[in-house]
Amino acid sequence: MAAPQTNLVASPPLARPVTTLWGVGAERAVQLARLEIRTIEDLLLHRPGRYEDRRHFRAIAELTTEEAALARGTVVALGVKGFRKGAKSVFELILDDGTARLHCRWWNLPFMEKYFAVGDDVFVFGKLSSLKPRTIDHPETEVVKSGEEDFIHLNRVAPVYPLTEGLPQRWLRSLIWRTLNRLESQIAEPWPQLDLVGRSLRTAPASEPNTRRAGERARYLFPTRANAIHMLHFPEALGDVEVARRRLALDEFIALQRDIQLRRTRFATKAAALPCGGTNRLIKPFLARLGFELTAAQTRVLREIRQDMAGRHPMRRLLQGDVGSGKTVVAACSALMAIESRFNVALMAPTEILAEQHFQNFHRWFEPLGVAVASQTGSRKTAGSRESRVKGQKHITLSTLDSRPSTLFVGTHALIEPGFTPENLGLVIIDEQHKFGVAQRERLVRKGRYPHVLVMTATPIPRTLGLTLYGDLDVSVIDELPAGRGGIRTFVRTADKLPKVWEFIREKLAEGRQAYVVYPRVEDSGNGDLKAVAKEHENLKRVLAPSRVGLLHGRLKSAEKERVMAGFRANTLQVLLATSLVEVGLDVPNATIMLIENAEQFGLAQLHQLRGRIGRGAHESHCILVASVKTAEARQRLEVLEQTTDGFQIAEADLKLRGPGELLGQQQSGLPKFRFGDLREDFDLIKQARELAAQLVLRA
Ligand code: ADP
Ligand code: MG
Repeated sequence: MAAPQTNLVASPPLARPVTTLWGVGAERAVQLARLEIRTIEDLLLHRPGRYEDRRHFRAIAELTTEEAALARGTVVALGVKGFRKGAKSVFELILDDGTARLHCRWWNLPFMEKYFAVGDDVFVFGKLSSLKPRTIDHPETEVVKSGEEDFIHLNRVAPVYPLTEGLPQRWLRSLIWRTLNRLESQIAEPWPQLDLVGRSLRTAPASEPNTRRAGERARYLFPTRANAIHMLHFPEALGDVEVARRRLALDEFIALQRDIQLRRTRFATKAAALPCGGTNRLIKPFLARLGFELTAAQTRVLREIRQDMAGRHPMRRLLQGDVGSGKTVVAACSALMAIESRFNVALMAPTEILAEQHFQNFHRWFEPLGVAVASQTGSRKTAGSRESRVKGQKHITLSTLDSRPSTLFVGTHALIEPGFTPENLGLVIIDEQHKFGVAQRERLVRKGRYPHVLVMTATPIPRTLGLTLYGDLDVSVIDELPAGRGGIRTFVRTADKLPKVWEFIREKLAEGRQAYVVYPRVEDSGNGDLKAVAKEHENLKRVLAPSRVGLLHGRLKSAEKERVMAGFRANTLQVLLATSLVEVGLDVPNATIMLIENAEQFGLAQLHQLRGRIGRGAHESHCILVASVKTAEARQRLEVLEQTTDGFQIAEADLKLRGPGELLGQQQSGLPKFRFGDLREDFDLIKQARELAAQLVLRA
């Protein structure tokens, strides 16, 4: 996804290159391009990194080591010191404002000397590194040049922009000032139909105390886009900045939501209905034999899915349900609906061991119903080579499989390779969808013409990301766990407590339970890691004897992985030493211990997923996070897991702590970059943008 285009409807002057501006020559243009400023609009949307309230200064005598502040003084002395051989040079500038003297120092930047002269009036921003003498190291400074457009730089809240080498702050500020003055009247409202201006927001930004009155719900109004841009650069008060940012963020979100919704409507008009509502012929006996009742949430979600699959357009649905909430059974019922309607179904999982688990479960479930299940993993490319796995068929070829109605293909990314082209594909199910890239998802979907698509994820997507990343999907949520689960207790421990931990695990193993032990260090790369894990394996075997310990990592041959997993499933192996390969999907209800070493190296969402491997049976489960936490922040992070097993809370915490990119991983780089929008804070804006975009699309 490209950055949202807010300039589609901008008037032509703003779309012109910056070189058309007076004073911007070739050299400046190169510098500006380094800041991604190419057009006049880019220039006007160049966001200040911070602001200085130049109506108020801190007296030099009152500067502190705690807090960065703005001061102003006259240069009384300057010079480069310490040119001893090999030693660092330091350029020092001494300012005086009548209350005290301030030493400003720059290391190894001797050329700084040429920017200042005794008698200069200088702004300085920073915090003291020492009090005696008062010193700031590498402060930000700006020399006041008297007479030169003072009103732009002085006696106001002044913007301080991100710069690049050779580009002076004052020059850029003047350029933006002049450009704004000349062109402000040409900044059009991008969505005149929406009548945004003066519309009130549901909630005021937290940093806008003026709009807050006790006991009254805060409201404030959207400025015009032109006003917002003006306020962004030259606010009257500091609070203006946030008002401006929110207006500009809203424009970005509307642009994005409009694109998402247009894509959706276009899809809806192109893609024909695919009647996959089913007949209940297979689902009824399937549920009767399942051994448990569906939860109310599972039943509700299935109703939504059936409606979609019988509807006028192919389904595009995201099924969200926390780890262990029972998404697989929902997938099975959805598959059966399509199969009842005589379509083929493909189910894609991100790892071979999960695909294998699904293959076994679905085979067991569907065999009595006379439904063929074929496996399609990276190690065994065609269904034909796994003929024995296809119910009741020997030596079956891919093409004869394809012509049969009612086959469920289970596989990994092999399903999106060119050799796999099933006919009559009615439904595509993608499990653990967050492990796939957006592009991969699209490829599988293009296989059939427009099959129904159900994507499933246990990664609770924070609300803002949900509306952004999955804005073109309908969402179903399984919001309850099946009854009769034993519950999970989570502890954070340091490595020196490991002997006690092993003792505890030995106890649980003696009671008949099973355990996962996860090592992040083995990132399935480099032989050194393999040696380390082999050693760890030997160690564990000794410590946990007589229990048997299997070893699972990504560099094992597929057959070996399958063998180890089968052993763990059958409880001939009681302990599984594994990499984060076991993160997704595995379901071995008798495993009640999850020990994660070096837990500080994992993200919260990932830890939550790993922990989701336990707590699946009737016995109480224990998750032990062994971590060396050096900072309070790292400690706090892990404590979130001690305090809650609610995936949504954990995801919100992760989003706040690490940001959207981290949370979703590289694979989700489909996320657009926002200049003003902030996915961590702007849920209300995104929601509003979604509604507004719907009005736009309706009128389009
Ligand atoms: P996830 O949503 O993490 O994919 P699974 O589909 O693997 O969860 O289900 C977790 C476990 O719960 C499985 O062993 C499954 O058989 C069981 N399960 C699913 N639905 C129910 C239910 N309604 N009642 C009891 N157990 C269930
Ligand atoms: Mg699952």
